Amino acid sequence: MTPMKPPRIIVLAALCLFAGTASAHPGHAAAGFAGGLVHPLLGADHLLAMIAIGLWAAQQGGRALWAVPAAFAGTMMLGGALAWSGWVLPHVETGIALSVLVLGLLIAARRQWSVTAGMSLAALFALFHGYAHGLEIPQAASPASYAVGFVLATLSLHGVGIAGSLIGRRATRLAGMGIAAAGLALMLGV
Ligand SMILES: [Zn+2]
Repeated sequence: MTPMKPPRIIVLAALCLFAGTASAHPGHAAAGFAGGLVHPLLGADHLLAMIAIGLWAAQQGGRALWAVPAAFAGTMMLGGALAWSGWVLPHVETGIALSVLVLGLLIAARRQWSVTAGMSLAALFALFHGYAHGLEIPQAASPASYAVGFVLATLSLHGVGIAGSLIGRRATRLAGMGIAAAGLALMLGV
């Protein structure tokens, strides 16, 4: 065991601090474009899962770099549409928290997945993230603008994750551990 160097500890500490202070899922006060844009940034669950998708995609490399985030963003819209059409998906909040935990563990484990498997998993998780919001979109002042804002914020967070992977392989894995810990906390509701 080599001792952790300060930058890595800072990454971990920042994540833990963040997980502790950001509330799991603040209100879905749906509005227009701005509401959709800020929503993923306000809740630790969406934020961490979406950054994790970027980190994981970058770690997988190759085609997965864009295919995994694309699968997530695309299926998220599908989930929203399904919710809108009255489809019932149980355990939405648990699914969202689980996505944070599992993605964190995947980043920490750093195993190579096939692009198809990676896209499928990202799509499955995105279904929950999208569904949670499709329910509220009908109440939005401007549903289409809200959806556009939400998707843009999601893609930006994937970008943050991809850029974040530049901190290095080991630091990325440590960040994965921090994300997994935050996901566990979300699941336990602490
Ligand atoms: Zn939400």
